[in-house]
Amino acid sequence: MALHTRILIGLLVGAALGVTANLVLRVPADSAARAVVDANANGVHDDLEFWATRVAEPLGRVFLRLVLMVVVPLVFSALVLGVLGLGDLSRLGRVGGVSILYTVILSGCSVAIGLLLVNWIEPGKGLSQEQQEKLRSAYATAAESSIHSARAAKPLEQVLLDLLPENPLREAAGALDGSSPGNGMLAVMFFALIFGAALSTIDPSKRAALTTVLEAIFDVTMAVIGFAMRLAPYGVALLMFSITARTGAEILLTLLWFVLTVLLGLGLQMFVVYSLALKLLARRSPRAFFRQAQDAIFTAFGTSSSNATLPTALRVAQEKLRIPPEISRFVLTVGSTANQNGTALYEGVVVLFLAQVFGVQLTLAQQLTVVLMSVLAGVGTAGIPGGSIPLIVVVLQSVGVPERGVAIILGVDRILDMCRTTLNVTGDLTLAACVAATEQRRSQAPLAN
Ligand code: ASP
Repeated sequence: MALHTRILIGLLVGAALGVTANLVLRVPADSAARAVVDANANGVHDDLEFWATRVAEPLGRVFLRLVLMVVVPLVFSALVLGVLGLGDLSRLGRVGGVSILYTVILSGCSVAIGLLLVNWIEPGKGLSQEQQEKLRSAYATAAESSIHSARAAKPLEQVLLDLLPENPLREAAGALDGSSPGNGMLAVMFFALIFGAALSTIDPSKRAALTTVLEAIFDVTMAVIGFAMRLAPYGVALLMFSITARTGAEILLTLLWFVLTVLLGLGLQMFVVYSLALKLLARRSPRAFFRQAQDAIFTAFGTSSSNATLPTALRVAQEKLRIPPEISRFVLTVGSTANQNGTALYEGVVVLFLAQVFGVQLTLAQQLTVVLMSVLAGVGTAGIPGGSIPLIVVVLQSVGVPERGVAIILGVDRILDMCRTTLNVTGDLTLAACVAATEQRRSQAPLAN
């Protein structure tokens, strides 16, 4: 059975079990039972909470860890080999330039769609005072810790300077848990780009030796991921169970309009904007593209992490989409952190939604700040589950919406994280296909003349 079919079955089984367990063990909000049976603020029975968070979630994370443990060597080796594969530095500059241009266009469309929808649907207007209070008190602790980590946010010039790591090993060590002093994974990527560019200029015999070593490292990381992917269907089922068992219908109904706004936005970006980009820029059939990309799409949905999906995306790009490896290694690796259209859309929608909830009128300048910061957030967010939350807090602070409001959306964040990560990864693959086609047209152009 194909991998994506098994992952899909895992997703469905996990979700079905989780939803059923949640319904069966539900403790109604207004019943006296809540006082007797221990239930969390979401009405989830304590026993179910235990099985979901202490058993299913850690077991599900085993396969994620197997993947994440090789992400840093994978990113490094893939990028250095990508740069070497591009041949000369002018081609690197060209591919990099085209990638940035397309990233800005795709991200801009994504944020624009999100903001138009949130202004049109106005999901924040429907939330009653009582519902807000309930959500805020239920997720106060979680919100507190996000606010705490966002406080460490640095001024823009420092963020830019931190793209160049002072100590790449220290950046790499904290790249996945956000504890690096600088820019984490982005800084590791910059180091790899500079390393690759420098490697392409040294004595060819020495370069060949190091290239062989890096190719071996790349192959080893892919082999480890091969082991992990055998566990993926089970891991995804366990993670899905843990999320659906704890989310419950109550919170989804309370935040129904918000959830629908986000999903509609993600859907439009995926099926309208990407289809257009694929047709016009990559000259591919969108239908065939989405079918061939299924392994990566389901892995992204199941793991909520672009970084954990990177190996699958690289394989899909090479084997199924037939994108030249030097382009896919470069674009997908950088894109897994720096091209996150789903995240950009989500950040914009959350900020305007919370502004509506609190009745904060944003001026035109503030709305533009939200657009700009959301696009940048798509670049700066780590490709890990919940990576966007600290940045949402930063954007809220900068436009004067109460930052504690982030508590209101935390209960549905994980489910929406799965969906926006799917868009992030599909966006990376779309970008790689478009850049590859543009490159190919360019290299054929002189022949045609
Ligand atoms: N989980 C997302 C990703 O890995 C990042 C985020 O939006 O939280 O792509």
